[in-house]
Amino acid sequence: MDKLLASSVPGVFLLECPACKCHHAVATQAPNHCGAKWTWNGSMTTPTFYPSLLVSWGQGPEREVCHSWVENGFIRFLSDCTHALRGQTLELPFVQSLEETDPPPTDNPLSPHSDPS
Ligand SMILES: [Zn+2]
Repeated sequence: MDKLLASSVPGVFLLECPACKCHHAVATQAPNHCGAKWTWNGSMTTPTFYPSLLVSWGQGPEREVCHSWVENGFIRFLSDCTHALRGQTLELPFVQSLEETDPPPTDNPLSPHSDPS
């Protein structure tokens, strides 16, 4: 079983975030629409991405943040996450095939962040 799902875009992989209960898209070949690109260790089962994944949405007090490192098939949430799993490390869930009805993951404002805290 894989922990990454290849998207329809070459070099873009989806992982299932156990905090957000949705997929985050990681671009490893061409930069995504935010100009962000990650290095990948080539593994679908024990993936590592560098640098960290930072997803945020909403504004002001409504702003939600999911900030994580993906290392060896585990996802480590940093303390600036706004969800309940901040500060925790979980094994990445195995991914299921995308439903035909899933919207494309391109509207996640994902950007790289190298803060190692
Ligand atoms: Zn997330």
